Amino acid sequence: MPFSSLRLSKHLQKALHDNGYKKPFPIQEQIIPAIRDGRDVLGIAQTGSGKTASYVLPVLMDVLESNFLLNRHIHTLVLVPTRELAQQVNAVFQLLGHKLPGRIKSMAVFGGVSINPQMINLQGVSILVATPGRLIELIESKAIHLSETKMLVIDEADKMLNLGFKEEVTKILSLLPKKRQNLLFSATLNEEVTKIQSLLLKDPHVVKVKPQEDNIELIQQSAYHVTPETKGPFLRHLIESQSMKQVLIFTSSVVAADKLCEKLVKNGIDAKATHSKKSHMTRTSALRDFKVGKLDVLVATDLISRGIDIEFLPFVINYELPRSPKDYIHRIGRTGRAENPGQAITLVCDEDLHHFKVIQKKMKKWIKLTYTADLDF
Ligand code: AMP
Repeated sequence: MPFSSLRLSKHLQKALHDNGYKKPFPIQEQIIPAIRDGRDVLGIAQTGSGKTASYVLPVLMDVLESNFLLNRHIHTLVLVPTRELAQQVNAVFQLLGHKLPGRIKSMAVFGGVSINPQMINLQGVSILVATPGRLIELIESKAIHLSETKMLVIDEADKMLNLGFKEEVTKILSLLPKKRQNLLFSATLNEEVTKIQSLLLKDPHVVKVKPQEDNIELIQQSAYHVTPETKGPFLRHLIESQSMKQVLIFTSSVVAADKLCEKLVKNGIDAKATHSKKSHMTRTSALRDFKVGKLDVLVATDLISRGIDIEFLPFVINYELPRSPKDYIHRIGRTGRAENPGQAITLVCDEDLHHFKVIQKKMKKWIKLTYTADLDF
């Protein structure tokens, strides 16, 4: 099915073509017509499926068709759990929407940065991508109101609820007009998401795309047995011997991420760390440099293991194991995306062996463990 069958304007089809979107991904084929018909939608899909464009495109069409540009109200509110996702979603709106007639203005608002510039820039915004806390602050300071909002998108609902945003989301729902179109996206359908779903959606069109677990075959996984003493030197050996570029390394804590990053830099490896204790500016610039290939190594906590799309990421290294097998799958899912094969490498000490077995059992895939004591590095 071509994009031209999805009732998208010529301008939008051109924007898609110019940005290398040749034909719709399955989720887009299934969701775009339903949204265009005005239906509520439940999309069970992860990052990597093309879920963002599946709502960005029909939202842009609706704004164009509803003459909303003349109106100074928020037409569509997209609620997301993290600032990184807010920026990423807004970037897709801008990428596909910036050449459309009428200059549709979209904007991302999120906490952790000064509120004043956001207040000033809200002028003329039709599409607002927001994290819940900052949105409420903006509403309470009367910088914005949602009384004319036509469409609500909640993206990564499961993460939103896991992060404890339930109260904020409920409050925001109470401030929206009763008559509106609702689109709910979640990687998983757990009890909490089901509750929000029944509260929010009327007779939804439900689309479920193949979860990442099924795409795990795309990823080449390997594991190395190390000791706490050899772990650091072996990691450096891996990076240097394979001249690795664009390596995402996961640690289990902020302190460990900073320590590891410092060691790598001391050893001449181009690395930066990103985690919840870094300033917004530092996080954004590290991620941007990494995405465009200006930075070789990004050391991260699980903060960015979900939701952030990095195309063609060739290497993910688990320097420390995550607590949950789900997080392991999300971490390694940063590679092997969009049909690009990638490598996921895990370093395992004696004390991790049992937990690593549990992860493999959950994943239903066994990974060969290589003993580094036999290797020369
Ligand atoms: P998402 O799941 O929305 O984060 O999208 C995953 C990646 O797929 C992003 O890098 C998008 O730019 C890309 N993408 C989404 N839809 C298409 C498409 N129809 N053709 C090519 N790339 C796409």
